[in-house]
Amino acid sequence: MASVKDQWLTKLRSEVREISPEEVRKILDSNGRPVALVDVREMDEFRQGSLPGAKHLPRGFIELRAEEGIPDKSCQVIAFCQSGVRSLFAAQSLRALGYENVSSMSGGFGRWKQNGHPFEVPQPPIRRGEGEGIPARLKSELERLRSEIRELSPADARDLLASGEPVSVADVREADEFRQGRIAGSIHLPRGFLEIQAEGKLLDPTRTYLVYSTEGVRSLLAADTLRRMGFTRVLSLAGGYARWEAEGHPVEVPEILTDRERERYMRHITMDEVGEAGQLILKKARILCIGAGGLGSPAAYYLAAAGVGTLGVVDYDVVDRSNLQRQILHSDERIGMLKTESAKRTLLGLNPDIRVVAHNERLTSDNVDRIFSQYDLVLDGCDNFPTRYLVNDACVKHKKPNVHGSIYRFEGQVTVFWPGKGPCYRCLYPEPPPPEMAPSCAEAGVLGVLPGIVGALEASEAIKIVLGKGSPLVGRLLTFDALETRFRELKLRRDPHCPYCADGKDFPGYTDYAFFCGV
Ligand SMILES: [Zn+2]
Repeated sequence: MASVKDQWLTKLRSEVREISPEEVRKILDSNGRPVALVDVREMDEFRQGSLPGAKHLPRGFIELRAEEGIPDKSCQVIAFCQSGVRSLFAAQSLRALGYENVSSMSGGFGRWKQNGHPFEVPQPPIRRGEGEGIPARLKSELERLRSEIRELSPADARDLLASGEPVSVADVREADEFRQGRIAGSIHLPRGFLEIQAEGKLLDPTRTYLVYSTEGVRSLLAADTLRRMGFTRVLSLAGGYARWEAEGHPVEVPEILTDRERERYMRHITMDEVGEAGQLILKKARILCIGAGGLGSPAAYYLAAAGVGTLGVVDYDVVDRSNLQRQILHSDERIGMLKTESAKRTLLGLNPDIRVVAHNERLTSDNVDRIFSQYDLVLDGCDNFPTRYLVNDACVKHKKPNVHGSIYRFEGQVTVFWPGKGPCYRCLYPEPPPPEMAPSCAEAGVLGVLPGIVGALEASEAIKIVLGKGSPLVGRLLTFDALETRFRELKLRRDPHCPYCADGKDFPGYTDYAFFCGV
């Protein structure tokens, strides 16, 4: 049997006139009779961009605000949403309110944009109280609904929730309202999506559902819709979340992104692989960059830009003019400044919403445990063997993923040493080479842009690991030859007898190798 949603949609498609973005464009360009373009999406969506001159009349508020926004009920109204489904429901609501000429734009703003039509980023509207300026018509409608739908005071609602009876709570407010705080355990079922999502989110039509909005107006309207969809026991919270909160009942205030952060990370948030949840994970992530040099500079720069909430930088060096050919966190006027200080200034200049911790010390066996224990992941951008072994050994001990990069002349390498999941550095090179065999860092040249490429790859691996997305370079060594512009990939295997990371092995302790290259 078709769901109620599908039955309703079929009916709507036969009743509501749908017009394509191209027809809408023609109407707008024709300078004919006045047209009301109505964006029925949520605040968050509207803020990101809308049709030029569109009025914002969110679906969830349509009965509350329509007459205020479109006083002339005989004018042509074109409703649109993101994909063309919500606007069908909105068009029907507008017709029920007495608007004579309403159509819905097929494909919504998504298709409008995709087809290359112009759009603008509007001034964000101010959210007004739900109970403000309710038209008389709606007041009597609400009275009627109150006689049919049971309203619970916050105190009664709390007792009901504590009683152990099977009750679910549904929040019908918009995403930005839900984010600010909610009744613990609420299902988010925004009124704009109610008919589309109800059957998927409220699975048992015979269960009791307590519905709430900000002040109890939208929740009554939503409860009415749910009744008509076949939900038999729907209650509405009188006074809504505002009264619930004011009376001191428990709320869940999620760790949230600020509006400024949402704006900053919008290109992340719009991707399903990151989304708001992923951006919050990045915000809570703590990444330690070993070195603020050639590799650490681009890596830390992109991690800061990506919104990694806590970024540690270990370095004990000062900025030298010869660094500036590749170490892009620093600048000419900072020659002589501590690299950690210079890095902190640049990173916070790019993104003041993160925390940058400067560890102005040389990493040794004495401080490595203290420093590493404060982070979830280590990004190795060091340029010498003693530190590289120390970082590896500490990551094995603390079971932290170690994103490793190295560069030499025109060649770079990246891999991820993740204890327990793949090999460690010592699985490949059990001991450092004798000092006379290692290339002297001060003498070895490097193409300035090469650490930019390798460091950016390290940042990309770190972000993927934090988000738990994609396939990190565990057990794979990616090499890059800048002269030939060629990437290659080699398989790396765990050494089952590795003195550090073999299964069941006790940690053998740290070794401080002599610094044979201190630059
Ligand atoms: Zn190993």
